[in-house]
Amino acid sequence: MVHLLQHPLAAHIVTHLRDRTTKPATFRTLAYQLTLLLAVEATRDLGTEPRAIETPLEPFTGQVLAHQPLIVIPILRAGLSMVQPFVDIFPDVAMGAVGLERDHETARPRSYYQKFPPLGGRRVIVVDPMLATGGSAVLALDLIRKERPADIKLVCIVAAPEGVAAVAARHSGVPIYAAALDRELNARKYILPGLGDFGDRLYGT
Ligand code: URA
Repeated sequence: MVHLLQHPLAAHIVTHLRDRTTKPATFRTLAYQLTLLLAVEATRDLGTEPRAIETPLEPFTGQVLAHQPLIVIPILRAGLSMVQPFVDIFPDVAMGAVGLERDHETARPRSYYQKFPPLGGRRVIVVDPMLATGGSAVLALDLIRKERPADIKLVCIVAAPEGVAAVAARHSGVPIYAAALDRELNARKYILPGLGDFGDRLYGT
């Protein structure tokens, strides 16, 4: 259910992301690179179809991606940083977005923004860099599932065991792709060892 990137380059990038001295400009580049690796990993099962072409030397029948547009849905705001790598490598990508915030009265996440292209029968990839308590991911998946996509995957950079358990409890069929599975959450619900507040590190806030 959790697919962890197994690549020396991924380990290298995650370590630099964790490093508190990494500046926002480098952090953004590393997050982009890591998401490219995750995007490749999370789409290994994309369908292909034969395509007859001619090389400069002879006819050849190769494989191209079957027409099956991917829909990437970031959880705002930090998830936005993970959209561009998908757009850059896949020819057919549509984007939605879901904005979630913490309701100060109930302490539970609630949706303040939701914009989806038609999701029925489509392949959806939800992106959110930090899977901490899993509250936002579970709510986003609840909202997306109502639209009956064919397939949903969750792609994050760092996952906590608590977040994985929350997603597995409510959305057991949704695979999670991550670059690291960390130890635990602290009392303030930050991931340990983690990398701090992803949005703040990204935008220098
Ligand atoms: N969100 C973050 O940005 N960092 C964490 O450690 C947990 C949630």
